[in-house]
Amino acid sequence: MCNYSSSKRVGDRIYHTSAWRKLRRAYYGSQHGICEWCGKPGYIVDHIEEITEENVNDPFVTFNWENLQLLCLPCSNRKTFKKHFAIREDVTFDESGQLVKKESY
Ligand SMILES: [Zn+2]
Repeated sequence: MCNYSSSKRVGDRIYHTSAWRKLRRAYYGSQHGICEWCGKPGYIVDHIEEITEENVNDPFVTFNWENLQLLCLPCSNRKTFKKHFAIREDVTFDESGQLVKKESY
């Protein structure tokens, strides 16, 4: 019985493994901690090809260096939410993924 709600990401199943943590750390180091999209400090190691029910058990997707990219939080949110939201200039996402008004800075 599998009761993953839509908010629970399939990838969470690998993100808690020690193999993933090791790979994540190595990849992070290889990118010098810099977001590959915008060049700002990044800390989210993301799968380019999203983890799905179909490929979560396929190490060529989940543990494939070529399928990784280092992103900062805004870029990660942009990727994750672009399917669901039209991104506007005056809104952004906070750490918990909530849509918030962008502060002017
Ligand atoms: Zn970025």
